[in-house]
Amino acid sequence: MIIQMKKNSTKKEYEKIVDFLKEKKFEIKDVSSDEIRVFGVIGDTSWLDPSDLYAFEGVREVTRVSTPFKKASRSFKKKDTIIKIKNGIEIGGDQFVIMAGPCSVESEEQMRIIAKSVKKSGAHLLRGGAYKPRTSPYAFQGLEVEGLKLLKKIGDETGLAIVTEIPSADLIPLFEEYVDVIQVGARNMQNFHLLKALGQSKKPILLKRGLSATIEEWLMSAEYIMAGGNENIILCERGIRTYEKYTRNTLDISAVLAVKELSHLPIIIDPSHAAGRWNMIEKLSLASLAVGAHGLIVEVHHDPEHALSDGAQSLKLNKFSHLMDELDKVSSVLGMKVR
Ligand code: PEP
Ligand code: MN
Repeated sequence: MIIQMKKNSTKKEYEKIVDFLKEKKFEIKDVSSDEIRVFGVIGDTSWLDPSDLYAFEGVREVTRVSTPFKKASRSFKKKDTIIKIKNGIEIGGDQFVIMAGPCSVESEEQMRIIAKSVKKSGAHLLRGGAYKPRTSPYAFQGLEVEGLKLLKKIGDETGLAIVTEIPSADLIPLFEEYVDVIQVGARNMQNFHLLKALGQSKKPILLKRGLSATIEEWLMSAEYIMAGGNENIILCERGIRTYEKYTRNTLDISAVLAVKELSHLPIIIDPSHAAGRWNMIEKLSLASLAVGAHGLIVEVHHDPEHALSDGAQSLKLNKFSHLMDELDKVSSVLGMKVR
């Protein structure tokens, strides 16, 4: 961290902030000239909020030179993290991992039809929300515990691992029993109580990017889980809110490159919630593979017209199968495998 004092600041003001930082066990490296007072703060500054230091009089600018996240950062761990899921599925290496399924778990029959089909097409995990975060309290809220049980049953039948969203910390024991990957939804990305509680779990966590979260805020949320001891985190870019209305959200595809520079954690893309339109999913998925994402989470439904949620962005079974063929064709050129 570098602190620059105002031109008209006094020696006393300088000494006050330096003493404060020394008391906190930081080393101070002064690089002042006759013109300007500037000094570096050496040590673990990850817990220090630069904006707090403006409380000291005479401070002109505080600049962070290291990231505020530590365990999640590429400088902390150079090698890519590879997360073991189940049945030999690993994410973060050369396998492009596909998570597919409906937005919501609606019935046993629905889940069986979709799971069998996506498995046949080459998907690795089955998705499906049992607890649905809906904008309206009158919209379908999910089958809850029944939904979790159905997911486990169909997962066992088909050999697909399960990923589903957790709404609150009190449900962690239940999710640990029924689920292989616990999803933190976009709306909960900064539910710090939930993140802390998930730090105590050993299950892999799929951490979606918040609707308006910066990449740094998102990685700080990963840091929350990691600080608690759970380092099995998969990041998921699912589109961010912008002024654009044509698509549901704006897919920030460059976030994949940014995250891969800043962090060692694997990152996947959710083109479904990003675009909100089924006819855009295939091309966005190919773009995700090309940009270097480690996988996808895609909404698929056997009867999207009658889906209880997100039918407009769900691929029909044959369209998903086609998507898998297209991904398969280009994957080897990119040094990845899909099936
Ligand atoms: C979902 O995956 O079903 C979902 C609700 O996604 P998000 O949290 O990204 O909106
Ligand atoms: Mn959905």
